[in-house]
Amino acid sequence: MIDRYGRTINYMRISVTDRCDLRCRYCMPAEGIEKVSMSRILTYEEILRICRAAVEIGIRRFKITGGEPLVRKGCTNLVREMKQIPGVEQVTLTTNGQQLTEKIDELAEAGIDGLNISMDSLKEERYTYITGGGDLSRTLRAIDKSICAGIKVKINCLLQKQFNEDEIADFAAFAFEKGIDVRFIEIMPVGYGNPDAGLSNDEVLAVLKERYPQLEQDETVHGNGPAVYYRLPGQGGAIGLISAMNHSFCSSCNRIRLTSQGLVKPCLCYEDGVDLRQALASGDDALKEALEKAVRSKPAGHSFHDRTTVETKAMSQIGG
Ligand code: SAM
Ligand code: SF4
Repeated sequence: MIDRYGRTINYMRISVTDRCDLRCRYCMPAEGIEKVSMSRILTYEEILRICRAAVEIGIRRFKITGGEPLVRKGCTNLVREMKQIPGVEQVTLTTNGQQLTEKIDELAEAGIDGLNISMDSLKEERYTYITGGGDLSRTLRAIDKSICAGIKVKINCLLQKQFNEDEIADFAAFAFEKGIDVRFIEIMPVGYGNPDAGLSNDEVLAVLKERYPQLEQDETVHGNGPAVYYRLPGQGGAIGLISAMNHSFCSSCNRIRLTSQGLVKPCLCYEDGVDLRQALASGDDALKEALEKAVRSKPAGHSFHDRTTVETKAMSQIGG
């Protein structure tokens, strides 16, 4: 479906839970966030109905997220069922990787089209610190196993000044060694994210070019998102820069988001959205209309810089 600014909206991020087994400092407070009762979380059947309605309005690519999607039982089966919906072109999932190793075979068998694995440090202690207790070796093991299983893997790394900026070149080396994409993400003022701690992707590019002078922009399409990619001639793997703050990509935004409680958010930046609860009770036509309404109400762009209308919920509650 085309929105009122002429953008094609063909992609939806679906949060299946607000729960998480980690406590990344920019995403969740150490004590966690009050959990939403399971009775208010969409059932898998409801999510599948929403996907079918979404396909009818031209949304054919889906990303399952959270919270941590793999903490919700039956998530791999959701992937399988989504893949069987006629018209669905792609189902991928984003995860912190802590519980992934045990689920890779099931996910591959369910037909997953790709995994985004979040990992902000390659140093054990630092990883444990930023994730509030995570085990780096578990995520590294999951990355290797996913690659062996033939699943397309992308690493998401959120950079923060004076924390992990010294690892930019290490992450690039990791991408080239494993032959996978590593994407550096600018921290956004959503939830607990403090953009003052963030590093602009221009700064990142300068570091990369110093270490790899042969680095060149890669014009091939790598996914659904707004990352700009760089690669080394003749080398597998690439570095993606996702620059929400410093190079706004809103004019080419192609997505809407579904929270685990059934709110469709046209834009990550604002609290407003279309609640699908009533439409779910009314029937599939109402659902389709509600999704169309969400697409029609997509704003021209975010207002992260003036910070006046910024979403107050955490990323884990929205579905990052
Ligand atoms: N738990 C899964 C994970 O970590 O991949 C999925 C949900 S998590 C909210 C999705 C992504 O959002 C992660 O890569 C995380 O780094 C990113 N994220 C969380 N808070 C953010 C913020 N304030 N700005 C930018 N990215 C953020
Ligand atoms: Fe959990 Fe992902 Fe948020 Fe980290 S970024 S606390 S893994 S939801």
